[in-house]
Amino acid sequence: MPHRLTIAAAARALHSGQLSAVELTRACLERIAALNPTLNALITVTAETALAEADAADRRRRQDEVPPLTGIPLVLKDLFCTQGVRTTCGSRILRDFVPPYDATVTRRLKAAGAVLLGKANMDEFAMGSSNETSHFGPCRNPWDTERTPGGSSGGSAAAVAADLCCGALGTDTGGSIRQPAALTATTGLKPTYGRISRFGMIAFASSLDQAGSLTKDVTDAALLLQALAGHDPLDATSIDTPAPDYGPALDRGAGGLTIGLPDEYFGDGLADPVRAALTAAQQTLEREGAVFKRISLPHTGAAIPTYYIIAPAEASSNLARFDGVKFGHRCANPRDLRDLYCHSRAEGFGAEVQRRIMLGTYVLSAGYYDAYYRKAQKVRRLIADDFRAAFREVDVILTPTTPETAFRLGERTGDPVRMYLSDIFTINVNLAGLPGLSLPCGFDAGGLPIGLQLIGPTLGEEVLLQTGAAFQRATDWHARKPDLPGPAGR
Ligand code: GLN
Repeated sequence: MPHRLTIAAAARALHSGQLSAVELTRACLERIAALNPTLNALITVTAETALAEADAADRRRRQDEVPPLTGIPLVLKDLFCTQGVRTTCGSRILRDFVPPYDATVTRRLKAAGAVLLGKANMDEFAMGSSNETSHFGPCRNPWDTERTPGGSSGGSAAAVAADLCCGALGTDTGGSIRQPAALTATTGLKPTYGRISRFGMIAFASSLDQAGSLTKDVTDAALLLQALAGHDPLDATSIDTPAPDYGPALDRGAGGLTIGLPDEYFGDGLADPVRAALTAAQQTLEREGAVFKRISLPHTGAAIPTYYIIAPAEASSNLARFDGVKFGHRCANPRDLRDLYCHSRAEGFGAEVQRRIMLGTYVLSAGYYDAYYRKAQKVRRLIADDFRAAFREVDVILTPTTPETAFRLGERTGDPVRMYLSDIFTINVNLAGLPGLSLPCGFDAGGLPIGLQLIGPTLGEEVLLQTGAAFQRATDWHARKPDLPGPAGR
């Protein structure tokens, strides 16, 4: 069952000659053919080019030393530009957009030898927590197909959880990698803001957006980060510090680490099974030698309102380019230019995206800018300062990733504020620009996955990988698989 392999295991099998990239790619494509009609995890499947890339990888491998991801089949969230491959951002407005260039992320994966299997479903313009705002229909959770896999990188998470691929990339503006990772028992890493280039990644909220990975374990998260991290002159906010070698962190163990437990993340509203799983995770890490300390992040409660001013403000500006002229769907028979803009945008954007554009335009408008936008920027600073103070006392912070396990499709679509609250534990991390890692840490009585979140200081990816790898050595939550039909399902 090659589709089950982690990136690291697949790379070993390819290296030893036990498996070819074509065999591995074919196994993933069969799995996609069997399960994607139900899960709707992928919007576009690039079967033909994937097989050609795999074949080229096999030939290169016979001749030479090859880069680390040679022949590894991966999936990209459908907002990373892929030259010649449709990139929809989950939106009607970009339904037919074929980028003439590759995102830096795409380019780096290709340079590392990866095979692109397809483009993953997502909430429209990454706005959502359930994948239900996608123009291409909701993605379903492999653990219970009546439920959401989370969002906005729901397709990437479902694809990894269902073994449609070895690993996937997503983006995280307020939790969109970590929340779906938690709801699907996958490992989700959102690096420090600026660690991975945003060039060619369709923008939602530029001061918060960050690319990262959804993988089967922490080792794979380190492998993908290694391939992607580093300065990019094409992204002005890219961090100009070379990426370290992430490998050694994986073997360091949790001994000697001080881990903070913020009071604000363990209050009312946390479902009992989530609380119990977090307590058990704490005990596991204690056995591994970590020491725990209660801390406070006093401005936690302000994160959701702050985010829902800053993110829509940036989105309203970023999405102005989709006007039916420069980019995107164009309405039929416009009366004049204004009519063309109005109709193209009204037809092209779904309800949630329109809501965000209106919210953002409002908070940036004359007279309201100071009351909302400027104030939100100040609160954002306070949230970042809370974390800075905490990291003087602890090495890493442990929290639940989400307050609850996966909810039913349709359950929250009529109540945007309730949907927004799904991200209550993840949004703070984006506002502060910090790295976060979600790991599977148990299941509720209904068999739905529970995730824990590790938060690190700026550029603290290594301590996250260190803690995460120690946890996964001591547990097997990440190795559990959903019960899915289809060829080689079990
Ligand atoms: N769910 C949040 C939102 O709707 C975060 C999305 C994201 O991280 N892209 O904005």
